[in-house]
This record gives sequence, C-alpha cells and structure tokens, in this order.
Amino acid sequence: MRYLIISDVHANWQALNAVAQFCEGKYEQVICCGDLVGYGADPNPVTDWVRKHCQIVVRGNHDRSCTGLDGLEWFNPVARQAALWTQHALTRENADYIRSLPKGPLLVADFQVVHGAPYDEDEYLIGSSEAAEAFGYLERRVVFFGHTHVQGGFIWNHSRVETIPRMPSDAQTHILDIDPECAYMINPGSVGQPRDGDPRAASVIYDSEAKVLTYVRTEYDIPGAQRQIRESALPAILADRLAVGR
Ligand code: ZN
Repeated sequence: MRYLIISDVHANWQALNAVAQFCEGKYEQVICCGDLVGYGADPNPVTDWVRKHCQIVVRGNHDRSCTGLDGLEWFNPVARQAALWTQHALTRENADYIRSLPKGPLLVADFQVVHGAPYDEDEYLIGSSEAAEAFGYLERRVVFFGHTHVQGGFIWNHSRVETIPRMPSDAQTHILDIDPECAYMINPGSVGQPRDGDPRAASVIYDSEAKVLTYVRTEYDIPGAQRQIRESALPAILADRLAVGR
C-alpha cells in the first residue's frame, strides 16, 4: 500500500490542494497526523477534503482548541485569536467531525500515527535526545508524527539516534529507504504552515511494501493563501510567515 501522509494543514486550502494535485496517482490512502485547522483562512474546504479523502486522522492540539474541546489559555495571543476566529467559521458538521477525531497514537498496518509524541499527543519532538526517549514507546518500527512543522524526523540505529537531514531546497522529492533493522520517527512536515525555513508545502509518501519513504515539497499559491488571511479578521503575521516558512 502507498500512503500519502500529511500533517498540520492549518486551514491552508491552497497548500493542501497543491499537495493533492502533485501527489495524485502516487498513493492509495491518505493519513493525517492532525491540526487540520487553526491559523489559516479556509477551515471548511480543508476539513471537507480531509473528511472525503483521509482514511486515518488523529486530532491535533489546534483541532481541540478550535472546536471547544480545550481552553485557549495555553495558546499565545496570535494562536488564540486564530482559534476564536476558526470556532466561528467552522460549520457545525465540520466542528462535530473534528471533535470526534481520535487521540493518537493509532496503529495502522505496520506503523503508528500520532500528532506530537508517542507518549503525549501534545509533546514536541524537536531534538534527538527527546526522540531517543520517544523511541522506547514505539509499538512498530515506523511512526509518523507532526506538531513541530519541521519535515524530517529521526532514525534509531541500535546504539544511536540520528536526525534525518533536511531535503535539499532545490529538490521536490527525496527518498529514504527503510532499513528493517532500524526504527523511524518520520515527520512529514507541515502542509499549511512550514517552520523549517522552506515555505513549500510538505508531505511524505510511504510505500509499505517496497519500504520506501519519499519526502515531498510542493510549491503552492502562497500569495493567494496570504490574501485570504489578510482579508479575514485573522492576525496579519499568519500571512507574513507563510512566505518565509518560519
Ligand atoms: Zn500544528
């Protein structure tokens, strides 16, 4: 089976649409590691697409806060303002769908899916020391996670944990062969709000039979997404940051 793995779409329809078009024909199922909404101006088109196309979805922290499952006191003022805006913008059906999303980690075939860390859906896995601890919680040799908006992840190679290097900025795809002797925590990166310095939409395609993972970066209509944010009552910084991927 070939899976398209997406995460942290954050209501960016232009980015999600570009990823779907670029990856068309390269996958049979879509998996989402959470944060469908929050920050961007298109929560309903994004949620409609996820409802229609994603077989497995775990919830993210913004999914809880944008649908009233969580308070907003943990958010910075920009995230809080975006969450309040999203609460009003979401249709009742889409809000109900997001509220019903399961908490990770979920077991899917030969891998797991989680938003943050395998031991805590809200934890950020940033450095290899946190990752080393997290590997102890894996029930499969491959886990997909998001939350940090940084494409890449970590490899457990028996004696050590390595950070997977970022793919070159002039490449659209980058292949990683899965060694059955190692374990992998793979971050597809953020579709809708990358924070790794590459503003292109990020995703991953995983071929579970061939044991090949492909990191993907896709150019999209950033000015269009920015325009919609600026024309709504969302904080302007949410538009600005899309251009730099920070
Ligand atoms: Zn996120």
